Amino acid sequence: MDSTKLAVRTQALLTKVKGNSDLGADAREAAELVAELQPVLRFLEHRYYVEQDPLVADIEYDTLFRTLKDLESRYPELIHPDSPTQRIHQGLIESFDKVEHLTPMISLDNTTNLEELRLFHISILENLGVLQAGNESQAWRTRAKDLGDTLIESAPQDDLFSESTAGDLFTNLDGADLRYNVEPKFDGAGIALLYENNALIRGASRGNGRMGDDITANIRTIRALPLTVPLQDHGIVRMEVRGEAIIRLSDFEKVNERRTQAGEAPFANPRNACAGSLRLQDPTEVDQRMLSAFIYHISYMELADGTDPIQRYPKHTDRLELLQSLGFPVPEYGPSDGIDGTYRLCQEWAEKRDSLAYEIDGCVIKVDDVATQEQLGSTAHHPRWAVAYKIAARQSTTRLLDIELNVGRTGAVTPVAHLEPVALGGVVISRASLFNFPLVQKLDIRVGDTVLVERAGDVIPHVVKTIPDLRPPEATAVIPPEECPSCQSELVWDEPAAGDEVTGKVLRCVNYRCESQRVERIRHFASRGAMDIDGFGEAMAAQLVGAALIRDVADIFTLTMEQILPLERMAQTSAENLLRAIDEARDRPCWRLLTGLGIRHVGTKVAQVLCTTYGSIHALAEAPSDDIAEIDGIGTVLAASISAWFRNPESQALLERLKTLGVRMEDPEQPSQASDALAGEIFVFTGSLERFSRQEAETVVALHGGKAVGSVSKKTTRVVAGPGAGSKLRKAESLSIPVMSEQEFLDYLDTYGIDIS
Ligand SMILES: [Zn+2]
Repeated sequence: MDSTKLAVRTQALLTKVKGNSDLGADAREAAELVAELQPVLRFLEHRYYVEQDPLVADIEYDTLFRTLKDLESRYPELIHPDSPTQRIHQGLIESFDKVEHLTPMISLDNTTNLEELRLFHISILENLGVLQAGNESQAWRTRAKDLGDTLIESAPQDDLFSESTAGDLFTNLDGADLRYNVEPKFDGAGIALLYENNALIRGASRGNGRMGDDITANIRTIRALPLTVPLQDHGIVRMEVRGEAIIRLSDFEKVNERRTQAGEAPFANPRNACAGSLRLQDPTEVDQRMLSAFIYHISYMELADGTDPIQRYPKHTDRLELLQSLGFPVPEYGPSDGIDGTYRLCQEWAEKRDSLAYEIDGCVIKVDDVATQEQLGSTAHHPRWAVAYKIAARQSTTRLLDIELNVGRTGAVTPVAHLEPVALGGVVISRASLFNFPLVQKLDIRVGDTVLVERAGDVIPHVVKTIPDLRPPEATAVIPPEECPSCQSELVWDEPAAGDEVTGKVLRCVNYRCESQRVERIRHFASRGAMDIDGFGEAMAAQLVGAALIRDVADIFTLTMEQILPLERMAQTSAENLLRAIDEARDRPCWRLLTGLGIRHVGTKVAQVLCTTYGSIHALAEAPSDDIAEIDGIGTVLAASISAWFRNPESQALLERLKTLGVRMEDPEQPSQASDALAGEIFVFTGSLERFSRQEAETVVALHGGKAVGSVSKKTTRVVAGPGAGSKLRKAESLSIPVMSEQEFLDYLDTYGIDIS
């Protein structure tokens, strides 16, 4: 079924399921619903985990998922092994069986510069008999050395390395095609998946390359990987694919945050976390690690009619296309003519490395033609037709000069390493996280030590370990402070989590009026994940608190032009923009307010669940703790924390003030969908709108199947900009996203017969 139909079906199912508690009253109706829910949930998983472009809110997905789970528990005969509810095996896996890979998983040889890439190319030409080993190839080796890392600008017709002429050079190669394909090299753990009769029947780790562990139960938790694929539609009976399990950087942060909160040592990097997770014996625990994956190679394929797969899929890129059409998460790839072209592509990957959502440590260059790959074969250690290009490591050693103290929003006082500046993968860093004091003591890190630091993507760099062999005699132990560096009140140790007396202890400032905590609370309230106030970052929060203009989050809504105009780096326009952004924040959905209040353990997702359940802050505040605890995914500890927060008189006073200042405290009733005329459209409204409010415009868009979001990204399809539109408009222009005025938006709606009033 195509994605438009599935999208429409999703909406229809949501309408059917929402607020309907007696679904599946008889077995026939249940069977029909299950048959509809399964493909829709698979489709939503694909949109979320593979395309990274969710179609519905998390909570809507959860609603459909729970409906399916409920139906299956009432009618167990309807459970299909490939149902989205069956990803997680309950119970422990005693031990992993050893399995043999259908073809060996051998590792790649490495290159680190253009000269080595050219030498790789020369050896391929020798192996194919294009170059005579001896004088001829020696001459090219010498030239590769002389050229170093210089790309050839304009090359003679017969140049072995150049991009433009490579095609001509190899046309008389007996049909051998020497185009290369360049893909990112993921920093995760290698996996091999076997599919038979459309179903995933085995997932294995790399192991020693010949034999791996059968980790099928753990692999099934990876929602980016399909449990079923329509192989038979392509005449394929059996297929083994290779890829890499990874943890996306944003998920990695969440996993580590959860671990530090639970008193466990954080993982050093996503790779270690990923490899460790695949070996866990409890798939439920693996599921918590939020693994993802990419698939980049078909290592074995058997066609129903006995044809040699090379005839049907002669190029590696044909196979990547096939994998993509089957629903696998396939990396971005680019074919290149000539070896110098591959280097250019590798450089591009190196440049965008920091903006990726996952870690890469280089690129893989593969001969695209499969027959040529087979002709080249392998050495005892590496394939001859592929090579890795490594980009600079992001680990380095440097000196720990001092420890700075950071006071968080909840008062946690954590050490930050002040380092001798060091370049890590192109960025110079001088500060790194040390997580918490007990961990510093456990790792015996001392001021003056040489330490190993690591940086993963945009995540704050952290200290991995110390190197005691290089310790100078004057190095001093790190002693936790006794007073808060901000308000000087006495610090207390949190009770450690059960079973972990070392890393579970957090040093905390319990003075609610502490200035550092105030700044952090206000910054959190205004942040993108909460109230999303444009232009209100950490520096702004610190300035406003420092100037005694605000003391709590409600004060944000009392700010006036007279108060903010004299502030540093503030001009008339920026002040107007800030006040407008603050004013707009009054009308945010309730979950944003709830997230912004900073109740412990209440993040975006929990806030969304709570607001959908209760519909207003008032109803949630009145709800008994037991009642909240019954919501799926909340539990008693969290419910108690929420309920305690709302019982606190200071919280109640804060909410009352926010309400008086015009901050929205309830969500409007969800109107049911009127049409899907705007399906697939993602709107951003910016600037001041005169003929309708932003809220009205967003409602109309949603009512007709479109989406309205707060910030411009590549996925945005249209931007509606009124007077005073700033950074969002500029971003839309830089991404060439169509921009319309208010009137053009009304005309546009009119073409669909939609009237905003
Ligand atoms: Zn303090």
